[in-house]
Amino acid sequence: MSESLATVSYIGATILFILSLGGLSNPETSRRGNLYGMIGMAIAVLATVFGPRVTPSGIGWIVGAMSIGGSIGIFAARTVKMTQMPELVALMHSLVGLAACLVGYASYIDTSIQLDGAERTIHEVEIYIGILIGAITFSGSLIAFGKLSGKIGGKPLLLPARHWQNLAGLILVIVLGKIFLSTHAVSDGMAPLLVMTVIALLFGIHMVMAIGGADMPVVVSMLNSYSGWAAAATGFMLNNDLLIVTGALVGSSGAILSYIMCQAMNRNFISVIAGGFGGGAPAPKVGAGETAAEPVGEVTPISATETADLLKEAKSVIIVPGYGMAVAQAQHTVFEITKHLRDKGVNVRFGIHPVAGRMPGHMNVLLAEAKVPYDIVMEMDEINDDFPTTDVSMVIGANDIVNPAAQEDPTSPIAGMPVLEVWKAKTSIVMKRSMASGYAGVDNPLFYKENNRMLFGDAKKMLDEVLTALKS
Ligand code: NDP
Repeated sequence: MSESLATVSYIGATILFILSLGGLSNPETSRRGNLYGMIGMAIAVLATVFGPRVTPSGIGWIVGAMSIGGSIGIFAARTVKMTQMPELVALMHSLVGLAACLVGYASYIDTSIQLDGAERTIHEVEIYIGILIGAITFSGSLIAFGKLSGKIGGKPLLLPARHWQNLAGLILVIVLGKIFLSTHAVSDGMAPLLVMTVIALLFGIHMVMAIGGADMPVVVSMLNSYSGWAAAATGFMLNNDLLIVTGALVGSSGAILSYIMCQAMNRNFISVIAGGFGGGAPAPKVGAGETAAEPVGEVTPISATETADLLKEAKSVIIVPGYGMAVAQAQHTVFEITKHLRDKGVNVRFGIHPVAGRMPGHMNVLLAEAKVPYDIVMEMDEINDDFPTTDVSMVIGANDIVNPAAQEDPTSPIAGMPVLEVWKAKTSIVMKRSMASGYAGVDNPLFYKENNRMLFGDAKKMLDEVLTALKS
């Protein structure tokens, strides 16, 4: 393939990636967005593999590596459960970071690259920054994987003088960068590069370990952004324009998502990165990401039949799904119930909190999968004012996102986080298996409110019973 054809293909792929992002911004166009992304990526891979910079002898290596990577990808896509998606995404981000590090080292020791003067300095700066971002992304994403899968506790690790430690690390990285740029031989530059990599790895671990349970959504989107910048840095090192553009697209969209997540949680981005939020919360149970909360007051249980009776009498219902709906895979039954009630003339709508579930857009994906009409799926800001005029609010496996302590208790670790005000409905029904707290490990006073009822049990099982009772 000629240089010009490869360039045209890269421009085509770039346009498709931008169209893909545009499509993914709305559930109705997201399939199309995915398709654009897949076609763009196929063009990008083909134009790179058959482009002018790959020698025929190199194609065998690329095909071999792609077959191994592709097989692992297909295996993961087939076996990973929907509830494991967030941790899989974190793991994928770590691979982007690792790739940036390896490419950085490879291009540093590559003797075929002979540059002088300013060009050499620019190339070495690219290598240094690429490895720095890559190492932070790699170790940070691995810790995020551990936290999201429950293998590492959600409580923030607050080392003494942690801000000073970070500052010392930063100063050391700058000094090492200066030493690295002043060296002339690879053997001399390797030592500062390796020490900087270790500092960056430790910083990545420290940064994510210091972030508490409820701040994890910001970390996930922030690491998403870092993985984009790591890819862009790789693009600079390899002199690949498409990788630079794609990396910048991922980096900036991740940064915008982090900002949206911060807004959703009423948090300042810098204070999230500085860590420590959620420090008052007990450590989540290993393996479950949840912990038992201290009971305060009396709760009123309700049966599936009584729930169905309340729904039969209701004129308006708001359903608030959370992580438990994903665990129980209850979305299809939720849709059946919605359809049944709407056929009877009940105004049923969904209230979606921006950080519900374990990844951005988690609930929207599940509801779209179950074919819930998009026009009844509302954002938190669109629906929060409607709870006082609602007969029944049904909370399905959600906890932190409906916790009134965020508004009522200034000492709560989630104080100030906007929540769905389900308790303002005439009756609220919370469906969950026990009194355990949610991801942030914070007790929920909603359960003890006078107009609240608890429907204990697995969400799928209980909703099946509610549906049967509704139809009887
Ligand atoms: P929560 O984690 O607060 O609560 C989920 C609840 O679901 C639990 O209390 C659990 O209670 C219940 N549950 C679990 N399994 C089932 C089941 N099979 N049937 C019925 N109930 C079940 O989830 P929310 O969605 O309310 O809030 C999301 C939390 O996750 C926030 O703290 C957010 O910050 C955090 N987070 C979000 C991310 C994102 O990007 N969206 C990423 C990382 C973290 P029980 O065990 O009693 O059943």
